[in-house]
Amino acid sequence: MSIEEKGTISIHTENIFPIIKKFLYSDNEIFLRELVSNAVDAVQKIKRLAALGQYNGELGDLLVEVALDEENKTITISDNGLGMTAEEIKKYINQVAFSGASEFVEKFKDAKDANEIIGKFGLGFYSAFMVSDLVEIQTLSYQDGAEAARWVCDGSTEFEITPGNRSSRGTTIILHVNAESEEFLSKNKLEEILDKYGKFLPVPIKFGTKTEQVPDGEDEEGKPKTTAVEVDNIINTTNPIWTKAPADLSDEDYLSFYKQLYPFSEDPLFWIHLNVDYPFNLTGVLYFPKVKNDFDMQRNKIKLFSRQVFITDEVKDIVPEFLMLLHGVIDSPDIPLNVSRSFLQADSNVKKINSYITKKVADKLQELFNKDRKSYEEKWGDIGLFVKYGLVSEDKFYDKAKDFVLLTNTKKENFTLEEYKDKVKDFQTDKNGQVVYLYATDPAKQDSFIQSANKKNYDVLLMNSPIDNHFINHMESKLEKTQLKRVDSAVADKLIEKDEAIESVLTEEQSKKVTEIFEKAITKAGMHVEVVGLNPEELPVTVTMDEFMRRMKDMAQMGGGMGFYGNMPDNYKVAINGNHKLIGKILASSNEEEQGTLAKQAVDLALLAQGMLTGAELTAFVSRSVDLI
Ligand code: ADP
Ligand code: MG
Repeated sequence: MSIEEKGTISIHTENIFPIIKKFLYSDNEIFLRELVSNAVDAVQKIKRLAALGQYNGELGDLLVEVALDEENKTITISDNGLGMTAEEIKKYINQVAFSGASEFVEKFKDAKDANEIIGKFGLGFYSAFMVSDLVEIQTLSYQDGAEAARWVCDGSTEFEITPGNRSSRGTTIILHVNAESEEFLSKNKLEEILDKYGKFLPVPIKFGTKTEQVPDGEDEEGKPKTTAVEVDNIINTTNPIWTKAPADLSDEDYLSFYKQLYPFSEDPLFWIHLNVDYPFNLTGVLYFPKVKNDFDMQRNKIKLFSRQVFITDEVKDIVPEFLMLLHGVIDSPDIPLNVSRSFLQADSNVKKINSYITKKVADKLQELFNKDRKSYEEKWGDIGLFVKYGLVSEDKFYDKAKDFVLLTNTKKENFTLEEYKDKVKDFQTDKNGQVVYLYATDPAKQDSFIQSANKKNYDVLLMNSPIDNHFINHMESKLEKTQLKRVDSAVADKLIEKDEAIESVLTEEQSKKVTEIFEKAITKAGMHVEVVGLNPEELPVTVTMDEFMRRMKDMAQMGGGMGFYGNMPDNYKVAINGNHKLIGKILASSNEEEQGTLAKQAVDLALLAQGMLTGAELTAFVSRSVDLI
């Protein structure tokens, strides 16, 4: 049989390539990924055939070679894989695998990137036309007695098959690069693309040559000598660590792989090796990085591969949201790579992968916690954010994380939820049987409140990370009979309501008088005076904002000040300690002006203690203080 044929590619539209070319322009570098991975597939296939005994010839050094000819404006991708017969070219190349041009034209309008189209319509090979005027295939099948075949197409629907010139098994794809794509006729550019997509391909990828120093006997003094020789420039590592068994890997292997992925990063805290083959295929290594404050900057650091071909570093939807800060690689042939986002979210494999990763991460954290509590606590500063984020956003994660999430108090001591409850329940249970956890968001500012609480044997938690707002709400919804209150939401004596209240020594009439004096002295809006009976040792005046009010205000602020609580005025409680000496002194004074000055001074001191006294009020306070001394 002689190979000679002209024909029409069976797609039922006049000329699909101009559409592909134009539409996919922004993403056109993926032509190289598609052609190189086809070549890799061909090599893998011949290997498998040999292993199955269906091919008995020499395999040789299996290799994919990319070459650039700047003068002739060609890029060549060749492999010594299984090759194709003319029949196979017709079947696999000519009959473009999609159901019809009308569907294509319909769909391509909504597609967001080239990936989507190429995958959906099986156009991998045709991505060559995004950058070429003419594409040529030279191929020789591994099959006994096969004849070399050549296929040429200029991007119209016309093609030509003739006898080819390959004398050894495999396929060569020659791209005659078009005028708009000359940027790809650059060694650096091709190297960059190969590095991005092909760094971990399973077959050696050769791109040009490089010089290397090799041993070459000894010089006159008997010292070892080297000479420079040209060697193949292999751009990839064919067995990256995620393809190996964890038992065969050392910590150094994991760390050096991390350095390879993120050259300028600090060492990670720890890592998890993923490996499943049922009900879906997934391998990978996820690293927990040291978290910087600008944690948003570190998103999208996980690289997604499909059979060692890099696909994307946008793994949203595949990795649970709260684990987006992790680094590393995930490799799965089961993730539909070329579909739209909304489809991906609904994909059942993706859902399973999501919960598998969540479970693995939880198990690893539990293991670290059980094995070495001290080092776990040392890492808590970095991993706390993930854990809290995870348990507020995924119930399944909460169920596991509740045993290893840590609460840290202002003395930098760490407790599990259970330990903490045991620690505080004796002193911090209120008269209704609710255990009240106290927390500080800014220990420096809230210091006087923390000290007062500590004096009453209350413990104060530190809640100063960006996620703690949500974490606090979540704890309240999950923990029974537990309430959280910021330490400055009331005076210490009133933070946790007990049966035995301290009575004020003042009579009702005296209280009224004190209230009047203070109301007159306070000029700031939204301050509500209340005389209460507190421990005489407590401050004479304390300014607080009710826990509920403050949370509403915080929420309104986070929501951009919109809605009902958007313009909520400040609303403070000014607690006057009726049992304090100073209040007695103010009452005893017969000079109204002196009463006013003392009251004002006491209120300003309270504001000062909380960092609320600023600007002109602070200046007035300072000069009043000078007068008083
Ligand atoms: P896919 O790779 O998804 O099958 P492509 O359009 O990339 O789709 O390739 C179509 C088919 O062409 C492949 O399935 C394969 O049979 C054949 N093919 C492409 N490139 C080669 C190659 N280098 N060697 C052998 N066969 C190839
Ligand atoms: Mg392909």
